[in-house]
Amino acid sequence: MKKDYAHYLSETASQLQPSGIRKFFDLAAGMKGVISLGVGEPDFITPWNIREATLLSIEQGFTSYTANPGLLELRQEITSYLGKRFAVDYDPTNQIIVTIGASQAMDIAFRAILNQGDEVLIVEPSFVSYAPLVSIAGGKPIAISTSPENGFKVTPEQIKKAITEKTKAILLCSPNNPTGTTLNKQELIEIARIIEEHDLLVISDEIYAELSYDETFTSFATIEGMYDRTILINGFSKGFAMTGWRLGFLAAPAELVQVMLKIHQYTIMCAPHMLQHGAIEALRNTYDEVEHMQKSYLRRRNYMVQKLNQIGLDCHTPGGAFYVFPSIKATGLSSEQFAEELLLQEKVAVVPGNVFGESGEGYIRCSYATSMEQLQEALKRIQRFIEAKGIYVED
Ligand code: PMP
Repeated sequence: MKKDYAHYLSETASQLQPSGIRKFFDLAAGMKGVISLGVGEPDFITPWNIREATLLSIEQGFTSYTANPGLLELRQEITSYLGKRFAVDYDPTNQIIVTIGASQAMDIAFRAILNQGDEVLIVEPSFVSYAPLVSIAGGKPIAISTSPENGFKVTPEQIKKAITEKTKAILLCSPNNPTGTTLNKQELIEIARIIEEHDLLVISDEIYAELSYDETFTSFATIEGMYDRTILINGFSKGFAMTGWRLGFLAAPAELVQVMLKIHQYTIMCAPHMLQHGAIEALRNTYDEVEHMQKSYLRRRNYMVQKLNQIGLDCHTPGGAFYVFPSIKATGLSSEQFAEELLLQEKVAVVPGNVFGESGEGYIRCSYATSMEQLQEALKRIQRFIEAKGIYVED
């Protein structure tokens, strides 16, 4: 007889839903000739100097544990990077933890600050991990829905309305995944006023900071009064094309870092030693490559936005990241139906917007971190798919 495990499992873990993105990957994986606009990762291979520095560190025998928060040399590079690039000042000895991706940084941030039932405001559409991570930490994710009329930006009024006595923190992500929306300095200042007024913390996911095309990126901790309230999260995955390395970091007030470090120490110990050497090299010597990648994404963004609008899928211009988030409402299909039919009929994989929260319904996420040739072919296929639905409108 098959053993029933249900009563062994934690309620929280059992109630987690598998990521809606995976479902489409699995479907696409079994098909030939699929162009994927589904994945949220750079199409570049990690620059050679980073790989070489890592190989050298293995050759030199750097195979031991490092200090729990990471090599001091790397933490120093991180603070000087944050200082030079984003004008925010941290102490490498007690304000930085090198983590297993931004993902682990978020996990320890939530676990360090949340008690059972504490609420965290999440601006949706949002990255799929936020709400589950809040739940795993015993908190309650509270969605704030944004809309395209407002460029998918959260307004101060919406935040005010969502705050209750249990609200402990708000998660901000600019540039955003999946919408690509960025918040400018003035908008951040307005949000900061509410945060101060209601004595909240901010988890600022700045993983796409290097991919902000139209405005200078503003790190939330630089906003007046916010340094002491911000857990800044960033990493190497996106800007440096290092997703598979699983390296990120957080920067925060020392008192918070001390608590997050305890969780990190007991669960992870430290990030892999040899990879930390690669990360030092990334922060020292990769700016030409980073700039080259930024320019290449920008060209592709402009192409995608122009072409999608031309074929009848309304698409706002995202200020950053490497996603476009066009409306598919004109097709009359739900976002799941659209993604599934497009995959089966034209072999293009996109992600249905509803996996990023209710307000993502009616949209699809297309990653443009793939070659221009692939993007052109994908858009030809999408155009054909739409024409078959009778809504093609060439200008
Ligand atoms: N935040 C956002 C908004 C993301 O899109 C991602 C990756 N898709 C992450 C965090 C996780 O990044 P990492 O690879 O550093 O764990």
